[in-house]
Amino acid sequence: MAESAKASRELGVLLRLVQLVRPYRGRFYLAALSLIFGSFVSLAYPQVARFAIDQGMKQGSTDALDRVMLWLCGIFALHAGFVWLRHYLMSWLGVRAVSDLRSLVFDRIMLLPVSWFHERRSGELVGRLASDVAILEEVIGSQLSMAVRNAVQLVGGIVLLFIVDWRLTLVMLAIVPPFMVGSVYFGGKLRKRSKAVQDRLADASGRVQEAIGAINTVQAFTREQAEAAAYRSDVEKAFDSTVNLIKWRASFMASVSVITYAALAVILLLGGRGVIEGRLSAGELTAFLIYTAMVASAFGTVASLYGSLAKAAGATERLYDVVDTVPEIRDPEVAKALPAGGGAVSFRDVHFRYASRTDDPVLAGVSLEMAPGEVVALVGPSGAGKTTIASLVPRFYDVQSGSVCIEGVDVRELRLSELRHAMAIVSQEPVLFSGSIRDNIAYSNPDLSTALIEQAAKDAHASGFIESFPDGYDTLVGERGVKLSGGQKQRIAIARALVADPRILILDEATSSLDAESEAAVQQALNVLMKGRTTLVIAHRLSTVQDADRICVISDGIVAEQGTHAELMAQSQIYRRLVEHQLIES
Ligand code: ADP
Repeated sequence: MAESAKASRELGVLLRLVQLVRPYRGRFYLAALSLIFGSFVSLAYPQVARFAIDQGMKQGSTDALDRVMLWLCGIFALHAGFVWLRHYLMSWLGVRAVSDLRSLVFDRIMLLPVSWFHERRSGELVGRLASDVAILEEVIGSQLSMAVRNAVQLVGGIVLLFIVDWRLTLVMLAIVPPFMVGSVYFGGKLRKRSKAVQDRLADASGRVQEAIGAINTVQAFTREQAEAAAYRSDVEKAFDSTVNLIKWRASFMASVSVITYAALAVILLLGGRGVIEGRLSAGELTAFLIYTAMVASAFGTVASLYGSLAKAAGATERLYDVVDTVPEIRDPEVAKALPAGGGAVSFRDVHFRYASRTDDPVLAGVSLEMAPGEVVALVGPSGAGKTTIASLVPRFYDVQSGSVCIEGVDVRELRLSELRHAMAIVSQEPVLFSGSIRDNIAYSNPDLSTALIEQAAKDAHASGFIESFPDGYDTLVGERGVKLSGGQKQRIAIARALVADPRILILDEATSSLDAESEAAVQQALNVLMKGRTTLVIAHRLSTVQDADRICVISDGIVAEQGTHAELMAQSQIYRRLVEHQLIES
């Protein structure tokens, strides 16, 4: 019962794949037609054999035999045409559907909130998506059509068997129930084992991604061999799981073969008697035997493909889990328009905890009003919640109670695109994408004119070093391009923020310091960027807090104290302690 419920759920899941093929209906129908015609042609072979024996050999007529051979050649040619058409169209549809699915999954992933990514190991996610898609590619491209072709052959073969000799057919069909029970039994075993193989492979690819992403750390701690050994052990585990799967699959195939040959032997015995008694012609018996072999092999194929289809259902389910995830953070049903303004930001009694750590409230009533154009520095011990506060403004997370407002409108009432267009985030250890410097500066708007890109670079004090490169703005950065210094990357990131022209800025200051010259250049670039914009800066440097209009000391999940540098030095013990420790994270 549980098995059949599971099977029907799997079928439902697989039907969703059909939607992927819907845009290519014409090709699909043509493929289905050639598949069915091809199967009918296969089913005609035994009839030709019957004719050859009964009309040709038994009558001693070579003419009839020649005619049969001609017929056969025609059938072969026709069949070959159908095979080509079916194979081409089915594979085309498979690759097309899988390509669409890849893009669909990535489209959806891009919309998911950052918390979704924190809950998953990125390597495992990437590996799993890749392997799930590969499974589907195989299944949709070839196995699905094989299953349908064999199912047609199975049903057609049985019908023809009844026509040739219904009594013998009933005898033959007696083997079906044990066959079914065996298939369900093996199907369950195979499914469980193939899931284990997938899980082991996902573990291994998760490790690869993690080790490659952190290669510096791995090498710095001379853990290369340890990582390699751990990977080898993951691979071995995957190997063992696969061998286990292979063992069961081999046993399954052996059982299918025993049952098939036993059935053929019984039919030869009973059918042979029929021929001797004159109930059946030799040609009919031959046709019967060939149909039986066809039916048995079709049955075996369908049963073993059932395992693959179940695997595909699993892969589909996982992929559609991603596709169907409704992002918790999304546009409101009815969005308010963001009023014009200079970028007023307010936090009103904000309480927040991370979904992955619900027992540990991070913010416990943060209230903070930022006037347009004001520069507010957040300081506080490490883990106090400064980054969390900053990430509530672009709505990377939603508050549990209280509100975050921009120009007096709750961020949850704004369209995400409008909200995020109003701000830029400059992390001081910025990430540049592989591509040219030009692409990186114009990231928020790829259609930006060269003049504007160059102006932004000039304002960000970056034009000097960019123009000194032989390729200028077309210099490639990232893995296959030049290695930029920390200060240069920061200035490109500042230029990137400048072209977005936001009213609100969120700066996350690096804890590691640059050399004095770079630092001065970056500071000048920041001064240009901050001009006339509301700025929330997570500060780690004394110079930053001294320049800020207001400093908020974050402690115990609230704004514990606020004021200017001088006021806080006079009044706040926490602040004084932070300054004495050079605001460096404890
Ligand atoms: P700060 O920027 O002041 O150093 P954070 O805002 O980064 O502090 O972190 C505040 C608290 O929230 C810390 O205890 C930290 O461990 C926790 N935290 C930060 N990010 C996450 C996350 N994605 N999931 C769960 N807890 C988090």
